[in-house]
Amino acid sequence: MRLRNITGSREMIAESDRCMETPRDMPGRWREYFGNDHPVYVEIGMGKGRFLTDNARAYPDINYVGIEKYSSVLLRGIQKLEEEPLENIALIRMEAEYITDVFAENEVGRIYLNFSDPWPKDRHAKRRLPSHEFLKRYEKILVPGGLVEFKTDNRDLFDFAVEEARTSLWEMPVLTYDLHADEDLMRDNIMTEYEERFSSIGNPICKYVIRSPK
Ligand code: SAH
Repeated sequence: MRLRNITGSREMIAESDRCMETPRDMPGRWREYFGNDHPVYVEIGMGKGRFLTDNARAYPDINYVGIEKYSSVLLRGIQKLEEEPLENIALIRMEAEYITDVFAENEVGRIYLNFSDPWPKDRHAKRRLPSHEFLKRYEKILVPGGLVEFKTDNRDLFDFAVEEARTSLWEMPVLTYDLHADEDLMRDNIMTEYEERFSSIGNPICKYVIRSPK
């Protein structure tokens, strides 16, 4: 998602006490930051932050960290937090490939990938967020047995993601090619902005949950 460059969005992010810029001084300090020892769940590519804020409201005993690379998009998340100051949310403007610079080993309980960029060209496969390269990074920061949850309507990206997980040591406790037709999985499903948009035009939503082998 790319919005027109909103003037001053970088400056607004710098001024916000809810948002950090690739905070390399944070590994090992997230519990201190939130002031409790609740689990830390991370959404990579949070967009405008609807999924993150809906989760944070529903589960006050979980701390949520949203990562987004575009400041113009992230700004909407900051504005949401100004309207509804949820204490269990932190936002980071950064490129996800540096995620191991920002979280220590075993510091993250769960990672959400929602409607990640497809990077359709073969030579860009390593940039896809469910690729082997990224799974290795996630394994490092996740607690033993920690989960990655991925939703998308992009079948090519999803097939790639399933193949990457199956050719690694991750287990896959959940796999569906039509999430919205699955009553059990829908019971606690929290919709993202893209999920709302693409399911409303009839696209099936694919989802997997994979468990870190560590
Ligand atoms: N998760 C939201 C938005 C999906 S669009 C939803 O489901 O509604 C994907 C978002 O991920 C975009 O906002 C894009 O800027 C962000 N993104 C993609 N690759 C990223 C990366 N490598 N690091 C950080 N953010 C990324």
